[in-house]
Amino acid sequence: MGDVEIREGADIPFWNCKWIAGSKLSILCPNSYMIATNKEASVEDSGFWLEDRWHWNIAWEWDQNNAELWSAASLLAGILMEVWPNQDGVCENEAAALKIVWKAKVPHKVKVFAWRLVRNRLPSKVQLVRRGVEIADSEMICNLCNLNNSQDDTTHIMVRCEVAKKIWNAVYIWLNLQGVNEVVSLCHEHMLQFFSKLKNKVDKGREISIWMAVTWCLWRARNGTIFNNETGDIDEIIFKIKTYSWWWG
Ligand SMILES: [Zn+2]
Repeated sequence: MGDVEIREGADIPFWNCKWIAGSKLSILCPNSYMIATNKEASVEDSGFWLEDRWHWNIAWEWDQNNAELWSAASLLAGILMEVWPNQDGVCENEAAALKIVWKAKVPHKVKVFAWRLVRNRLPSKVQLVRRGVEIADSEMICNLCNLNNSQDDTTHIMVRCEVAKKIWNAVYIWLNLQGVNEVVSLCHEHMLQFFSKLKNKVDKGREISIWMAVTWCLWRARNGTIFNNETGDIDEIIFKIKTYSWWWG
């Protein structure tokens, strides 16, 4: 990722070098590492280029009936999906945000979610259109606020949406915190600001659990409005945020 140019450095160990946001894959994905056939494999050994696209190809031995290994494999796939050897630089702030994500004490699925959020890879309608999915203009609005000039885009959902703003404000009041500047244009900038404002005010590690609880609940509420006709009740979302952040904190 970014700081590692693999084409120049084929000898970077796939499992045991901190090449993904400052962490080793053997630590992030211990179950996959356990069954990897070649624990010394380099990044270059672990995939191949085909028509300008990188394909990961990890050799391992496993029992396909073992559900635990399936979930280990999908965690690894979730991480690798967004990473390939010669990817253009991840900017410094983004790398810092990803590092914080991986240290957070939250369930793995939440980490993968936050990873995708920071990398701007969540399937918002704007992202889907970018990937060639056809969505009518009238369907592009954000279903949380339903405002005519809104767009179902990750930064909107997490930061700019009227519903998101009300929720963040409630969180700021709950934590007795000065709000994050709303002009941030990217989610990872929001995370880093929130993180620095909350530092030393709550137990170490809770800053990020809270931020993840808010974004996780916003994303789930957004999905609920689209797929289950839910209304995205603000009090209910805030209740869930508090519950998760205590649970994970
Ligand atoms: Zn909205």
